[in-house]
Amino acid sequence: MITGNVTKNQSPEKKSFKKPSRWQTLLSEAVRDPLELLQLLNLQPENAMPADFNPEHFPLRVPRGFIAKMQKNNWQDPLLRQVLPLDAEQRISPGFQLDPVNDLHATQGKGMLQKYHGRALIITTGACAIHCRYCFRQHFPYHSNSANPAEWQALVSKLDANPSISEVILSGGDPLTLSDARLAALCQQITDIPHIHTLRIHSRLPLVLPERIDASFLHWFSALDIHKVVVIHANHAQEFCSKTSQVLNKLRQNGALLLNQSVLLKGINDSVTSLVELSQTLHANQVLPYYLHMLDQVQGAAHYAVTEQHALQLMQEIRNQLPGYLVPRLVREVSGKRSKSPII
Ligand SMILES: *Cc1c(COP(=O)(O)O)cnc(C)c1O
Ligand code: SF4
Repeated sequence: MITGNVTKNQSPEKKSFKKPSRWQTLLSEAVRDPLELLQLLNLQPENAMPADFNPEHFPLRVPRGFIAKMQKNNWQDPLLRQVLPLDAEQRISPGFQLDPVNDLHATQGKGMLQKYHGRALIITTGACAIHCRYCFRQHFPYHSNSANPAEWQALVSKLDANPSISEVILSGGDPLTLSDARLAALCQQITDIPHIHTLRIHSRLPLVLPERIDASFLHWFSALDIHKVVVIHANHAQEFCSKTSQVLNKLRQNGALLLNQSVLLKGINDSVTSLVELSQTLHANQVLPYYLHMLDQVQGAAHYAVTEQHALQLMQEIRNQLPGYLVPRLVREVSGKRSKSPII
């Protein structure tokens, strides 16, 4: 472990007076108005304007750079379909719940979840750069369950006191929406705990706001003396661009093992072609497919559900077309289980 504190003299208070970074400006300019999104894509709202277009509890949010990866004039675009609120969200579907993976029962004090042996997951923030309509945490009560930076100290003490934990997973929300000052301080504190040997970051930002991985981030990230794993979340090959490839390359050069998790989503990636293409694109970026998740049964997302039978057929087909290392593990989260549950 390194002893030097990479964030010395960079308290969050001091940072907040600084000019925002470019990525922070881009984040603040994300599109929140569905009409603007449709206009940017040459789509006529009257052709498919849902009645209740922008639900208050989980408003539309999508960075402009991600919109630039969408096809114009195409309602079925696989990226657009991930972010556009639809009427179908208002349907109450039997079996679809507010907290489908039982996160509230796994909280270990504010901001921390421990479901699996050796790994603790920290909900660093409720904020995301993009709002994915299928998200299983869309109803999660972040206000009462994510720790704010002032409370991180208590979390770090908890990790320090629990030698059975060897890996810390930063999740959210999206941990990379936090400022460098905050994130670097937290990561350094975790790195300094002797029994923690792996720091894992789950983030969608390399795809939806690659500018986040800037020189300032790489400066402190590369200095962390711990095994680093970055799990990105791409559902479709079209989410990649040259900027994304560049930052993935940088993350890898700075010591991160790169993995991808996806959610199997109806009308977005539930075809052999799109799954094969995704794996090949990941390979081209030296990212290994990790999990392909069955949709968590969260209220408002039933229209994205793929049946288990169809999922298994897809897996069989992609296994026939890809080398084993490019085949993701199809899993489902079953509450109460001690790991994600493989579907075979
Ligand atoms: C998914 C998850 C993990 C990580 O599980 P892996 O199988 O190691 O990727 C850890 N903690 C919680 C609460 C999770 O939901
Ligand atoms: S980025 Fe992740 S946590 Fe945030 S809305 Fe999308 S799926 Fe949910």
